Amino acid sequence: MTHNTENFPYTFDDSAACAVCGGRCCRGKGGYVWVIQEELEKMAAALGINSGLFAKCYVRRVQGRLSLQERVISGEHFCCFFDRAVGLCSVYEQRPEQCRTFPFWERFKNDPQELLRECLGVEIKR
Ligand code: SF4
Repeated sequence: MTHNTENFPYTFDDSAACAVCGGRCCRGKGGYVWVIQEELEKMAAALGINSGLFAKCYVRRVQGRLSLQERVISGEHFCCFFDRAVGLCSVYEQRPEQCRTFPFWERFKNDPQELLRECLGVEIKR
């Protein structure tokens, strides 16, 4: 499906790109996947555990905010919910807002070059 968000200079087609890219938006040099308490609780419920245990296993506190933990494997950082075996998010239906809104982030709006290098499904509008 092609997503075309007004005010952004590019479109995003997730129909084929996400299946073959290997999750470039969920792995790399390290970063933050911000979550709020409500999202954390939904994800915990989907996994069938309480939010306290979920936070302990999968969440870290950074400068007063909550971010999903990363796993570092052979020097590469992976979101703790990235399933390396299949190359996809293991909590896709409950993924946080930050992941749902990718690649339509303000930081890419005026400078999509970094995004074009990273995401196979992004195409500049003509
Ligand atoms: S929650 Fe899912 S979509 Fe979001 S970064 Fe982690 S693996 Fe990727």
